Amino acid sequence: SGERAINFSPGPAKIPDEVLHIVQEELLNYHGQGLGVMEMSHRSKEFEEIILGAEKSVRDLLNVPENYKVLFLQGGGAGQFAAVPLNLMHTGSADYLVTGSWSQSAVKEAEKYGKVNWVAPKSDKFVSIPDASTWKHSPDASYFYHCSNETVHGVEFPETPSVPNNTPVVADISSNFMSRKLDVSKYGLLFGGAQKNVGGAGVTAVIVRDDLLGKSRKECPSVIDYKVQSANSSLYNTPPCFNIYVMGLCLNWIQKHGGLDAMEDLSRQKSSLIYDVIDRSNGFYSAPVDRRYRSRMNIPFRVGTGADQERVEKEFLHEAQKLRMVSLKGHRSVGGMRASLYNAVTVEETRMLADFMEEFRDRSL
Ligand code: PMP
Repeated sequence: SGERAINFSPGPAKIPDEVLHIVQEELLNYHGQGLGVMEMSHRSKEFEEIILGAEKSVRDLLNVPENYKVLFLQGGGAGQFAAVPLNLMHTGSADYLVTGSWSQSAVKEAEKYGKVNWVAPKSDKFVSIPDASTWKHSPDASYFYHCSNETVHGVEFPETPSVPNNTPVVADISSNFMSRKLDVSKYGLLFGGAQKNVGGAGVTAVIVRDDLLGKSRKECPSVIDYKVQSANSSLYNTPPCFNIYVMGLCLNWIQKHGGLDAMEDLSRQKSSLIYDVIDRSNGFYSAPVDRRYRSRMNIPFRVGTGADQERVEKEFLHEAQKLRMVSLKGHRSVGGMRASLYNAVTVEETRMLADFMEEFRDRSL
């Protein structure tokens, strides 16, 4: 579309043009108020409508049961790595299933506050999810933690893990939030930043079952205390008003474009286009992740093999850039490429990448 790049960024990521046009139009004068959302009180009637509207959209899209609170907090996913143990680790320990660098970071933070039980043996090769029959749960775990989609490694849980003893399941859904339906009632807590599928960085949605509130440690900061924020409707401190507004617009956009059924269907179409090219490339492209757990959101892959790989990958990025395809470089910890296909990336844009990949391969052979 015109001057806009084709943006495969892992996040912050593309926001739908439709949403950005509304933001642009309302930037200086929101609904005839003579001022914009960044400039209005978070206690104003207008902002109250914005935050309640965003909450209603989250509830409607995910069918959030009545006994769950929806909070909009700051500090990002990394903030939640601390908030989760500070609020929920009342037994002094929790189970963590590590499937990539983000769940590993969560462990590092949780270890400051209590005992972390590794559900599966430590590994640094994050290309799969260990079989559930091998998981070692501890009987006194306050919760079971996992990352639903590992943004760097491209490992995604196809469904909610089932755990024994009614242990509350906690999920980091930062990078697949609002990309498919999920049964919220199977979780104790879900959290996700907006900056991948639903807007800009600065706001993190937390969906938490209400019986888990009020168990926080004494030293838990009030700004990340779920009970305090819940009692104050996420306005204990000044919230990221503008980001909540943009997130609300993105959620409306999802509703207008078929809801989560459509987002899921599109994500399957888009990721299949890229995985198919990889699988049909006779090894020219390779994707390291176990097929069962391939992410629909982030596709890490390598280009070429052997001594020539580095040069070929540089060339790949360079050629892609010429076609205005940006942010395809993989995370520095894994190297290679990564195509991120969040909600705002279209099938047409993804097909352009797939076509380019085929053509680049043909040219290189
Ligand atoms: N979890 C996941 C799965 C992520 O992808 C990220 C960020 N890329 C985070 C947590 C951390 O989020 P933030 O940088 O907003 O703190």
